[in-house]
Amino acid sequence: MADLNALLSAEFGSGYQDLRATLPHNPNGPSGDFSLRPLLGLDILAVHHTVGPRDQSWKAIAQTHIKDRGFAGIGYHIGIRQGAVAYLGDVSQARACCRDMNHRVLCVSITGNYETMPLDAADAKALGRVAAVVQGWAQSSIGRKLKVLGHKEVPGQATACPGRNLLVEVHRIATLPDPGTPTGPDAPRLLAESAARQTLPLNRQAALLKRIIADGFLPTSPEFPFDSFIAQRAERLNDGKVRVYYVKAGDFGNVKFVER
Ligand SMILES: [Zn+2]
Repeated sequence: MADLNALLSAEFGSGYQDLRATLPHNPNGPSGDFSLRPLLGLDILAVHHTVGPRDQSWKAIAQTHIKDRGFAGIGYHIGIRQGAVAYLGDVSQARACCRDMNHRVLCVSITGNYETMPLDAADAKALGRVAAVVQGWAQSSIGRKLKVLGHKEVPGQATACPGRNLLVEVHRIATLPDPGTPTGPDAPRLLAESAARQTLPLNRQAALLKRIIADGFLPTSPEFPFDSFIAQRAERLNDGKVRVYYVKAGDFGNVKFVER
């Protein structure tokens, strides 16, 4: 089982804090304590905004969640505040961030109100990196990646969260190509393999080939010696016309052909 705290710490270094044990916690409140959930049930990474000011502390936000909403503590799992990342609530717990869906979501929240404020570049960058860490963790812990959604896109939610300006970035991150999937072949190996399979060696001047291409034909044989000439067979794709181009060695400016 990969350790999300260790992965976040390795990714963000001094820009990361583990606040899980230090934020206000009220397990005896009206909703009781957060419950454990099976990680295998996780399938959504939900992105939120806090709606408060960008510099509001996670401690103050946790207190609001306890006092005003009756939660057992801060509702989110991971926070991004002014470009810095904090682990707020353990991923093994169903926190309080998506109504009736808390057994399925891992919640990341950015301080600010993105219905009205533009998203800060440092926060956008941190979100992309958090999402990549979470997806790597999910892949190794539960064998698959999570679906990246804005809070309002999670089924059954009636909210403007995470705000239109953050939702655009959520969509950008959600549609990034998977870095785990190679987008092309291994170039050095492909070049080596193609060298071993080359069937059309050319003389340095490639006089025959240049003329064949210029005439709209394609070579269908290597160059071959014929009496005192060098020859090469070619064919036109659209009508199948066949020509054999030939030239005298050393007289490469004087390419001719016979045709069928
Ligand atoms: Zn939300």
